[in-house]
Amino acid sequence: MALEARICPKCGSRGLVPIEADRKCFCGGTEIIFNVTKEQYVKMSDYEINKMIEEMNIQPIISNEDAHTIYDVTHSTEIIDAMIELKQKDIIEYGLKLSQFKNQLEQRNQVNQQEQNQVHCPRCGSANITAGQRGYSLLTGFVGSGSTVNRCANCGHKWKP
Ligand SMILES: [Zn+2]
Ligand SMILES: [Zn+2]
Repeated sequence: MALEARICPKCGSRGLVPIEADRKCFCGGTEIIFNVTKEQYVKMSDYEINKMIEEMNIQPIISNEDAHTIYDVTHSTEIIDAMIELKQKDIIEYGLKLSQFKNQLEQRNQVNQQEQNQVHCPRCGSANITAGQRGYSLLTGFVGSGSTVNRCANCGHKWKP
């Protein structure tokens, strides 16, 4: 697969991409091809790459990290554009909005974390568990939590949590 080095002049994202890949960056910007070969690019230090970007007169208008944060939350290049406008008009408001996006992203990551922490079957690893069903005793009614049993809907394994 032939690769070439590109940079997005809008958000500064850069790296090697397949030659046939679309020139559109996730942020809506149009990528520019660096005037170096793939072999040259991988040997360049960050300092050299930054110097090359400067010499090409490329000045990203939003940081790559900020653009990613906004896009991850909103999936909208229009909102990235609106944020760029806001950054030029009111940097304080921009900072506030950006931290809201960051909070949203953090909350979402926490939810994902919780999903990852859910119970898995110790035998087959499936998360498809009928968890914590308390047994029922005719004599005593509901029995204590000690008899709580998880059952794997995938392999049928039963175990006490
Ligand atoms: Zn971009
Ligand atoms: Zn199982």
